[in-house]
Amino acid sequence: MFSKTSFEIGRIFGVPVKVDFSLLLVAGMFVLSYSRAMPNSPGTSLVAGLLSAAALVVALLVHEVGHAAAALSRSCRVHEITLMFFGGRAVMSGLPSAPLARAAISLAGPAAGLLLWFVALRLSVFLGGLRILPFLLGETARISLYLSIFNMIPALPLDGGHVLRDVLAHFKGNAFATFVVAKVSRGIAIAMGLYGIFFGGGFIMVILAFFIWASAKSEIIRAASGGDPDGLDDDVVVISPPPYGKEKEYTRIKRR
Ligand SMILES: [Zn+2]
Repeated sequence: MFSKTSFEIGRIFGVPVKVDFSLLLVAGMFVLSYSRAMPNSPGTSLVAGLLSAAALVVALLVHEVGHAAAALSRSCRVHEITLMFFGGRAVMSGLPSAPLARAAISLAGPAAGLLLWFVALRLSVFLGGLRILPFLLGETARISLYLSIFNMIPALPLDGGHVLRDVLAHFKGNAFATFVVAKVSRGIAIAMGLYGIFFGGGFIMVILAFFIWASAKSEIIRAASGGDPDGLDDDVVVISPPPYGKEKEYTRIKRR
């Protein structure tokens, strides 16, 4: 779907890593947001924006590589990793049928992100005397922590939704698990939408709400038709953080 607008930047564990052109928009938005926050220092805001965008790419990549490594260690196939505007995607097949093994693959992305957060934060403190590198590491740590927490929200298609479904499936069976996680996802989508419209969450929250709502709906349809909810092989696994706004907002998950 996104192959025509993406280009390969290399391979990790033999898996092609592609960057979608839409990701370049992020760099532009980051630079813009910094230049608004620091109108009197265009050079600094340009560098800060580009470094933050680079930090996002690193955090997304580590998250996806976490999924890919967990899948490969269970003899699954990982066809490609794509990084794009709204996050990343690891296209996998031959996923294990045991729900807990699948849950481990879903957890591996946020777990890799938390590891990156820890290491990058320590390094940025350690290198505090320098200028650019600690900033890059600090941004990487912050964005990676955000991505890990956000993706553990228990709503499909986020990792947390997959983990919830797989753990429930282990104990209660697939149909029940999908039914419950679809209801939970809808509830979270409604809450996100209301937050976006009435409580200053912003437009991105509303888009995410629609995205989660639509995904939950298709899961309900699949469960109702008796099908196995095995849709992981072409999976949007990361949603990029909403604060594509102002630099100071990165410290908070809130948009405004
Ligand atoms: Zn993920």
